[in-house]
Amino acid sequence: MTVSVVLFTNDLRLHDHPPLRAALGGDRQVVPLFVRDRAIEKAGFAVPNRSAFLADCLRDLDEGLRARGGRLIVRSGDVVRQTCAVAAEAGADEVHMAGEHTRYARHREDRLRAALEADGRRLYVHDGVVTAVEPGALTPAGSDHFAVFTPYFRRWNDHRPHEPLTAPRRVPVPDTVSSEPVPARSEVTGTSPALAAGGEKEGRKRLTAWLRGAATAYDTRHDDLAGDATSRLSPHLHFGTLSAAEAVHRARRAGGPGAEAFVRQVCWRDFHRQVLAARPACADRDYRTRHDQWRTDETAADDIEAWKQGMTGYPIVDAAMRQLAHEGWMHNRGRLLTASFLAKTLYVDWRIGARHFLSLLVDGDIANNQLNWQWVAGTGTDSRPNRVLNPVIQGKRYDPDGAYVRRWVPELAGVEGPAIHEPWKLPPGRRPRQDYPDPIVDLAEGLARFRRARDLDRDRGGDGGRSRDPDPDRDREPARE
Ligand SMILES: Cc1cc2nc3c(=O)[nH]c(=O)nc-3n(C[C@H](O)[C@H](O)[C@H](O)COP(=O)(O)OP(=O)(O)OC[C@H]3O[C@@H](n4cnc5c(N)ncnc54)[C@H](O)[C@@H]3O)c2cc1C
Repeated sequence: MTVSVVLFTNDLRLHDHPPLRAALGGDRQVVPLFVRDRAIEKAGFAVPNRSAFLADCLRDLDEGLRARGGRLIVRSGDVVRQTCAVAAEAGADEVHMAGEHTRYARHREDRLRAALEADGRRLYVHDGVVTAVEPGALTPAGSDHFAVFTPYFRRWNDHRPHEPLTAPRRVPVPDTVSSEPVPARSEVTGTSPALAAGGEKEGRKRLTAWLRGAATAYDTRHDDLAGDATSRLSPHLHFGTLSAAEAVHRARRAGGPGAEAFVRQVCWRDFHRQVLAARPACADRDYRTRHDQWRTDETAADDIEAWKQGMTGYPIVDAAMRQLAHEGWMHNRGRLLTASFLAKTLYVDWRIGARHFLSLLVDGDIANNQLNWQWVAGTGTDSRPNRVLNPVIQGKRYDPDGAYVRRWVPELAGVEGPAIHEPWKLPPGRRPRQDYPDPIVDLAEGLARFRRARDLDRDRGGDGGRSRDPDPDRDREPARE
C-alpha cells in the first residue's frame, strides 16, 4: 500500500481537512504527523497558555484518529528534518500540508519542499485550510491585496468558500512509525487560571451552541463587555480545531443579522491574513509609517508596567488587562481600548503591547494580533489613523453599569453604577480602597502629547488638516469600519 504523510500545523482537526482527504485518496495509508517545532519554541512563541491549549488539541486529535483506526505521530525538533525522517521511515512518497502565509511558514514550506524533492518525494500544499478565502484569491485592480476592509468584505461575501468536507471514517496508519507521547496539558506550568479548553470536539461543540444561542443577538451585543456575548471561537480558529470555511457556511445557513455580523468578523481574520501574505514584514514593521518617535524614557517603562499589571488607574483598561492575565483571552472591545491606551494615550510603541498580548493570548496569532495592533496604533489599515479612544467614554458606553469593571477590579467592587469609571471623582467616603492607583496619565495631556508627536495640530498640516479630529472618540465601531 502507498503511504502519505499529513503534516498538521495550525489545522488540528479531522473535519473539513483538505490535506487529510487528499492524502487518503486512492486507498492510501496516512501518517498524521505533528512536529513540536523547536524553532517556534526558541522564538518564544510557544507560551504556556498556547502550549496548554495545543496539548488539549493534540490529545483530542489523537483520540479522533484512534476512533478511526489510526493515531497521531508526534515528534520534536526541526520540522523539516523530522518530517523527512518520518516520510523515510514510513516509505511515504508524498507529504500534504495546509498553506500558511507568515514569513516563517513560507520559509518552512520552501525548506520542506526542497528537502523532500532531494529525497525524491513531493510536497502538496493545500489552500483554504486556514482561512475561509485564501489570501491572494481576491485582489483589487492594480494591487496584490486589499488595504481597506469594506471593499474586501464586499468581494469576500460574494465568494463562497469550499463546501466543508466530512471527517474521514477510517484513517489507516502504518504500525512501523513510532511516536513520542502526546503532550498533556498538565505538563505545562504558568498558565492563566481560567484558560479555555482546546480540541476539535470542544470547538465544534462551541460553534453549535453559539449558533443556536447567543449568535442571534451578536449584532447588537458584540460590544457588551459584561455580557460576554461573543463566540470565543478565536483560539479554535487559530489552532484550526474549527475550519473557518465551515464556521462561515454554518453561520450563513443559520442566517439572521446576528449570524451575518459574526460572518463579517470572520472576514476581518481573512482580511488581515491577506495583508500579511502580501506584506510579510508587517509582522514587525509599520504597514504605513507615521514616523513615530515612540517614548523610550524611564517614565515610559513605568507606564508600560502599570498597563501590563492592570494598574493604570483607568478602571476599564485595568479590568481588560486583568481579564487577559486571568483567562489568556480578552474581549475585542477590551483589546481595542487597551491597545489605544498604550499606543496613543501613553504613546508607547505598538510592538511592546503586541508582544505582551502574544505572551498571554491563547488565540495569539501573528496576522490578527500584529495587524490589529497596527490598526489601533494608526500605522496599519485604519482609514482614521489618529483616532484616540477615551477610556472613560469607552467604559461608560460599553460597560454602562460597571459590571465588567466590578468583575475584574475587586478594589472597586463597592462602587455602584457608571461612577466606577471615574473613581477619582468620587466623594472621599466612596473612594476605592487605597490599593487602587490614581490615573497614571491625564487624558488631555496624553492626547496632546500624541497630537504633538504626530504633528496633527499644525494648521492645515501635511495631510491638509484631514486628520484633525474634534471628537477623537466619536467612532463607535473602530473594528467594524
Ligand atoms: C489589539 C488587538 C489584538 C488582537 N489580537 C488577536 C489575536 O492575537 N488573535 C485573534 O484571533 N484575534 C485578535 N484580535 C481580534 C479580536 O479581538 C479577536 O479575534 C476576538 O476578540 C476573539 O473573540 P471571539 O472569538 O469571541 O470573537 P467574535 O466576536 O465572536 O468573532 C468571531 C471571529 O472573528 C474573528 N475576528 C473577530 N474580530 C476580529 C478582528 N478585529 N480581527 C481579526 N479577526 C477578528 C476571530 O477569529 C473571532 O473568533 C485582536 C484585536 C485587537 C484590537
